[in-house]
Amino acid sequence: MLKKERIYLFDTTLRDGQQTPGVDFSVEDKIAIAQLLDELGVDYVEGGYPGANPTDTEFFSKKRTRRAAFVAFGMTKRAGVSAANDPGLALLTQAESDAVCFVAKSWDYHVRVALGATNEENLEGIRASVAAARAAGKEAMVDCEHFFDGYKANPDYALACAKAAYEAGCRWIVLCDTNGGTQPHEVRAIVSAVIAAGIPGTHLGIHAHDDTGQAVANSLAAVEAGARQIQGTLNGIGERCGNANLVTIIPTLMLKPAYADRFEIGITEGELEGISRVSHAFDELLNRAPDPQAPYVGSSAFATKAGIHASAILKDPQTYEHVAPERVGNARRVMVSDQGGKANFIAELARRGIQVDKADPRLDTLISLVKEREAQGYAYEGADASFELLARRILGKVPEFFKVDGFRCMVERRFDARGNLKTVSEAVVRVTIDGETRLSVAEGHGPVNALDIALRKDFGKYQAEIADMALTDYKVRILNGGTDAVTRVLIESHDSTGDRWWTVGVSDNIIDASFQALMDSVVYKLVKNRERTGLAAE
Ligand SMILES: [Zn+2]
Repeated sequence: MLKKERIYLFDTTLRDGQQTPGVDFSVEDKIAIAQLLDELGVDYVEGGYPGANPTDTEFFSKKRTRRAAFVAFGMTKRAGVSAANDPGLALLTQAESDAVCFVAKSWDYHVRVALGATNEENLEGIRASVAAARAAGKEAMVDCEHFFDGYKANPDYALACAKAAYEAGCRWIVLCDTNGGTQPHEVRAIVSAVIAAGIPGTHLGIHAHDDTGQAVANSLAAVEAGARQIQGTLNGIGERCGNANLVTIIPTLMLKPAYADRFEIGITEGELEGISRVSHAFDELLNRAPDPQAPYVGSSAFATKAGIHASAILKDPQTYEHVAPERVGNARRVMVSDQGGKANFIAELARRGIQVDKADPRLDTLISLVKEREAQGYAYEGADASFELLARRILGKVPEFFKVDGFRCMVERRFDARGNLKTVSEAVVRVTIDGETRLSVAEGHGPVNALDIALRKDFGKYQAEIADMALTDYKVRILNGGTDAVTRVLIESHDSTGDRWWTVGVSDNIIDASFQALMDSVVYKLVKNRERTGLAAE
């Protein structure tokens, strides 16, 4: 058997992906995303522009990846100064990164108009920058901006830029379809021409944008022509219509024989099974709903509605599935309450240590209740703990630890004695535990925080048990369910055991939705404590 050729994956979520409208990563976000990318197993993680803003400068104060090469991005040396005297270049070579990716003009029109430099000055900038990065002990890459459009306008100059980089010892020369309008057959032809001009495909990368919906197709066309590095982003985020989606490209390279038989990437089969989780965790971080129709990882990617497809798929999944959903960590969904639906529920419950017989009528009650509540806006996929509580309640396994008789919440906006605008939130919660009613009042940073503090302020015999839990995240989504907008609140909690759990609340009132999620979180904690320690339910 022929040895497979290696394709390298380069992620630019933290740099080009940051250009997405409405996306602005904090340092903490960037650290969390770099960790996701490391788990996924990409070869390169491009972190941003050290020196360009405080976030990126702090992010590059140390290496943020364990496995992947950590890449700093920036401009080539300016015309008219030497490499040693260019402060921008110094920031790049001094950043705590393994590699530097320079962006360079490769279209003579842009060199003249945008850079105001001569063609030769631009080539010299490429050579000197690559040399400076190599002298600093870093792997050097050059992103040839507008390469395809530049090649169409002036092929000799576009090639001269790529060659200048290659001859200076650049590891990767990345051909960028910056405006995203190039078609797959053009990508194939131009990448082939670059290889014919003397730059080996093992040094060529492709950076495609999705403006004609073909960023993935263009990336694969470049690979077919010989390029061996693919740049892209998680879930295809990026400027305008986005970048090539690595979450689509990775399973295609690994599961489609046309690629899998010829190529290998640095991702194991086990890591591939984590790709749905990584994709959804990234959407959570962006506080946006995952696209249900995303290839491979969407919740509908392997979903079939009732009818002939559903019965056929249960007999033989291969009849309607192009790959097995488990390979990408997704699951088959047959959206009817038949044996298939039931089997899914039984499996889901067993995963949580809840055994139930398939003939148990309470199972049917649970299934119809979940469907009904999901139609109202509850999202149990994103709120494991609420799902588990609902199931345990229907199956009669959750004691009534406490009862909330009512709550009141007040937000006051006023000027203090010094004339500063203040917003004060206060909440009152009335809880009954063991027949004894307690009234707790608390102030907080915002109404939900005040409610959380008031709810957990006086919890009688359970007080010590819930002392180690805290809220870590709070997400609000407005859903247009029919005529009225409803609000879905998801809350993430954690405790000293390191466990994290999500709960959900839905209401036309955001405070009410938040309170439901808060209550579920506390009840889940009490149930979990009993499961874990074997405490008798009381
Ligand atoms: Zn780009």
